[in-house]
Amino acid sequence: SSLFAAIDMAPRDPILGITEAFNADTNPGKINLGVGVYYDDNGKVPLLACVQKAEAKLMEQQSPRTYLPIEGLAAYDKAVQELVFGAGSPILQEKRAVTVQALGGTGALKIGADFLKRFSPNAEVFISDPSWENHRALFESAGFVVNNYTYYDPATHGVNFEGMLESLKAMPQGSIVVLHACCHNPTGADLTQEQWGKVIEVVTANELVPFLDMAYQGFGAGIAEDGAVVRRFAEAGGPLLISNSFSKSFSLYGERVGALSVVASNAEEAARLLSQLKRVVRTNYSNPPTHGGKVVATVLSTPELRQLWEDELAGMRVRIKEMRDALVKKLADKAPGRDFEFVREQVGMFSYSGLTKEQVGKLRAESIYAVDTGRICVAALNSKNIDRVVDAVAKVL
Ligand code: PMP
Repeated sequence: SSLFAAIDMAPRDPILGITEAFNADTNPGKINLGVGVYYDDNGKVPLLACVQKAEAKLMEQQSPRTYLPIEGLAAYDKAVQELVFGAGSPILQEKRAVTVQALGGTGALKIGADFLKRFSPNAEVFISDPSWENHRALFESAGFVVNNYTYYDPATHGVNFEGMLESLKAMPQGSIVVLHACCHNPTGADLTQEQWGKVIEVVTANELVPFLDMAYQGFGAGIAEDGAVVRRFAEAGGPLLISNSFSKSFSLYGERVGALSVVASNAEEAARLLSQLKRVVRTNYSNPPTHGGKVVATVLSTPELRQLWEDELAGMRVRIKEMRDALVKKLADKAPGRDFEFVREQVGMFSYSGLTKEQVGKLRAESIYAVDTGRICVAALNSKNIDRVVDAVAKVL
């Protein structure tokens, strides 16, 4: 016990801390905008109909729970590739992409990080300023030095694109750049297609290693539209890693369904990469769980279920946009002279609202919970709670 006696308490996760405070709040009108989860208009995490139907089908089959292959279910990996790269992609025809099923987007990032550390041990990692709060810790825990690149501009509530390009140009050759493919978390500020073109030019010219994190495919402009950036990077020809997650797009948070895809220069190189990725998986958790992967593979490969999923995902995307519109309109009414138009421009589940830490503190006194940075989850707003949120925000401004 002397070994354990000297161990300090680890710092609390800032977002889980909000949820704990929210759960302890006895006000029946409490609202949690601090979460990273999609809620429907009734304030519930949806169980998608496509998932229910796929599960009913799987229950009928009563299949034994053998181990999956180290790289996961073959049908799942194939479906992921077609979703991420597009079904007719030359990358797939040339067998240049390899995909391993992973424990959510987080698991995919960790496999990618451990893999990169083996073969590029001296590279440094660059993440956006700010970024998803786990990016830094995750790459540091894989042994990397992690730096920021310029990204968000609080003055415009958008991207400081000139600053971002300067950062990219200054990175040493071989640096690993973590880029949010769409729906930037936490800011909601995405690059335009033209800006992506410039980023790809600099990444290619400076021989940087792009790692695209795509946790929200389908929540921006659409499944194919959001995935377009992956195809553009893949066509640029350099090494490329992509982590993707179905936590949000299938509302399967707890099933831990994601994948890591890596693009090689040719099929022979791809086979070598896959063998090494399998080693990383094998020494971490051996092989992924069956249920979530089977559900997603069933939905994606059964035409009616696939259509149902696309419709349900579009429903989530549209509802978030409606909440953005409503927030902007209602705030214009209640807080005239304040411009919240930028909330409409931001994309995905989140908005950097511009609320200060002090204002977030005042909201909390009204039982409305947001992140100290001012990040709010737009997907936690609904037709029943938005007026209370707007009134409270107008009061603290
Ligand atoms: N990347 C980003 C940008 C995220 O916001 C998240 C969390 N939603 C993840 C990765 C991790 O996804 P998962 O919950 O599937 O592990």
